[in-house]
Amino acid sequence: MGLPEVLDRIAAAARAAGRDPAEVGLVAVTKGQDPKAIRRKVLAYGDFPLGESRVQEALPKLAALPDARFHFIGPLQRNKARFMDRFALVHSLDRLAVAEAIARRSARSVAVLVEVNVGREPQKHGVLPEALPDFLARLGALPLRVRGLMTVASRGAEPARLRAVFAELSRLADRYNLPERSMGMSEDFELAVAEGATLVRIGRAIFDEL
Ligand SMILES: *Cc1c(COP(=O)(O)O)cnc(C)c1O
Repeated sequence: MGLPEVLDRIAAAARAAGRDPAEVGLVAVTKGQDPKAIRRKVLAYGDFPLGESRVQEALPKLAALPDARFHFIGPLQRNKARFMDRFALVHSLDRLAVAEAIARRSARSVAVLVEVNVGREPQKHGVLPEALPDFLARLGALPLRVRGLMTVASRGAEPARLRAVFAELSRLADRYNLPERSMGMSEDFELAVAEGATLVRIGRAIFDEL
């Protein structure tokens, strides 16, 4: 599809839902892509944040693309917490021990989203919705900037099911007064935009022939 078409489709989905397209930001997911491809297929079109899901893979790209902004979107381990202050936004916070390690090891107050396991799938990362109030209260005691919520929907799920998951994440973000909702990937971003996404995380639709 390529990045310009992805932007057009985000804007069309926003307008169809009565939303301002400017409310929806694109995170270009660059895992598995080298700096040259990232320059050509993303940065040539603008200063989009780049989403990486593994610290080991991200570090050389941070060095190779010093002017780019990176977001961390992958599973978080405590022993990688010290690298999180190099990312403009961490999408995948779901454990207090990791939050404490990030707060302790960072030179600045890191901006984070809390990953929520909205679909209650046992194999998935994320805080369960009922655990969110307590988790947010504990995060509030740490020097982190909690900006919103994030979820990963099941690939290949029915559109009605995906919409319900995205709607629930928006409802939770509203309830806790959090501005950012990071949801939607290559195959379902239009549904996520319809249900209130403020950040969509898209990889394959930018880099592959989808
Ligand atoms: C890989 C990944 C994406 C992007 O998925 P695509 O299907 O390539 O668009 C989004 N979010 C997370 C957490 C990912 O790991």
